[in-house]
Amino acid sequence: MKLTICGSAGSYGAPLRACSSYLVTSERSNLLMDLGNGSFSNFLAVSETSLLSGVFISHRHHDHLADLVSLFHFMKFVPGAKVDKLPLLATAVTYEALCNLTGLALAEVFDFRKIDVNSKILLGDLELTFCETDHVDGTLGIKITESDGRTIVYSADSAYCDSLVALAQNADILLAESTWIERPRWSSRGIHMDALEVGELGEAAGVARLVITHVAYPNDPNQARQVASTKYSGEILIANDFDVIEV
Ligand SMILES: [Zn+2]
Ligand SMILES: [Zn+2]
Repeated sequence: MKLTICGSAGSYGAPLRACSSYLVTSERSNLLMDLGNGSFSNFLAVSETSLLSGVFISHRHHDHLADLVSLFHFMKFVPGAKVDKLPLLATAVTYEALCNLTGLALAEVFDFRKIDVNSKILLGDLELTFCETDHVDGTLGIKITESDGRTIVYSADSAYCDSLVALAQNADILLAESTWIERPRWSSRGIHMDALEVGELGEAAGVARLVITHVAYPNDPNQARQVASTKYSGEILIANDFDVIEV
């Protein structure tokens, strides 16, 4: 399995970083996770829409879904851009927000597959399971298991929570958000993680490698890594746009 970073910025764009988007490629499947603003052009630089097996949208914030509009128009108007309707995996709450925010007839291009915390989806040789995260209504974290047993877990956006610890248990890769270096005073209970909490999450889940993403500019990803390393003893990578991580 291979994880390609198509967007690594948190909350809004950053220099040389588009907002959240991650492509998981296996022998038989290509799953695109989130499509934040600016990420679709990065996606086109590394893959093709006709190869996609499905798109997962983790929640209803623009920095995770804005470029679904670009994907919609590309697939609608460019000959050969799609073979069939593309499975769009999202919760009912997220799908409703997608329809309202975009104002598009999404069903023209996408085959909406409603998912919830109990869903188990087979996408070619990938098995997808989910957990509720501590963020806005309808946010799901996702675990991708390849047929050889290798796993990637993506936290989506979330405060530190036990459901993510459980989902990420012994994962080969935990792709986790660290919006902040240190939680700002206005946020009493989270909604996002800071670097210390990401380190704690990686350690509590016993993951093989931790990939830090969604660091909100001008916070410094290198500083996030340094702080996380005080809690997590394994290897920590920073997600940069166009990085390719073999799993
Ligand atoms: Zn976000
Ligand atoms: Zn969010």
